[in-house]
Amino acid sequence: MENAQRIAFAGLGIMGAPMARNLVEAGFDVAVFTRTSEKAERFASEHGGHAARTPAEAAEGAEAFLTMVPDGPQVDEVLFGADGAAEALTQGALVLDMSTISPSASREMGERLATQGLEFVEAPVSGSKPKAEDGTLTIMAGGEPESFERALPLLEAMGERIVHVGPVGHGQMAKLLTNTMGAVNAAALAEAVHTAKAAGLDREAFLEVAAGSAGASAILTLKGPPMFNETYEPALFKLEHMLKDVRHTLEEARSLGIELEFGALAESLYAKAARSGHAEQDFAAVYTAVGT
Ligand code: NAP
Repeated sequence: MENAQRIAFAGLGIMGAPMARNLVEAGFDVAVFTRTSEKAERFASEHGGHAARTPAEAAEGAEAFLTMVPDGPQVDEVLFGADGAAEALTQGALVLDMSTISPSASREMGERLATQGLEFVEAPVSGSKPKAEDGTLTIMAGGEPESFERALPLLEAMGERIVHVGPVGHGQMAKLLTNTMGAVNAAALAEAVHTAKAAGLDREAFLEVAAGSAGASAILTLKGPPMFNETYEPALFKLEHMLKDVRHTLEEARSLGIELEFGALAESLYAKAARSGHAEQDFAAVYTAVGT
């Protein structure tokens, strides 16, 4: 796929906006759509591309249609809802879903698109807003090898570590498992920070030694300071999205006959934080659910 190809991008949130911007900067001709049309217009006036009022309008003449929305129901709505993209895409076009959704929903989506003559690749990402901005995301793709090759030039404009994990479903499964490890890790960190504060430990000293210890992790580096400060804005990765991912993981594991004990514990802590008003804040707000 060469630059200046006409593509479409749906979902201009924390991740989608910088990812779409990188595609524009890589030279693709991008039609952007998001639920709030003023955001698409603002994006086009600030970064280029064209704002579309419906997914169908964005899909018109596009060789690839990318989605970066919260979850499966929203991807479905963009593709198959009123003025959805699938009907408007030309035969053989590629649909590339980069949202994190359940593997089973992704497989169903791929099958439905195939009946409409459309190719499908799932390509969920890791690395929060800073990596979306730098174009250095980790991308875990699922799909046919030829479809993955076709998606690669698009993925290279947004990511650095790009892995074809396997067929549709396997990219999402890898993403869910890695995020659930992160969710459990963040919950464990929250307990440690809570206890360190109660014991009166010096913040800098604790964070420094923890970074050189068995407790060291990317989560410690990124979420230790906000947990100590109890500041969860701006949201880099919304707590409600982490909760969604943990729930998808539990469900998929259950369908394989596996009960995830740490995952279940994380689910209850993130759900508690969401119920107490932290759903749209950064997932570091899991801190609010521990130690009480
Ligand atoms: P976000 O900030 O909430 O953005 C979601 C975007 O989707 C918003 O622009 C929203 O529209 C749009 N949207 C919602 N429903 C829609 C619909 N029915 N039709 C069209 N657009 C719709 O979320 P995000 O952080 O960018 O995350 C997006 C996906 O990436 C999620 O699956 C998340 O789990 C995953 N992810 C996030 C991160 C992260 O660090 N943030 C990292 C890796 C993966 P508006 O224009 O109205 O706001």
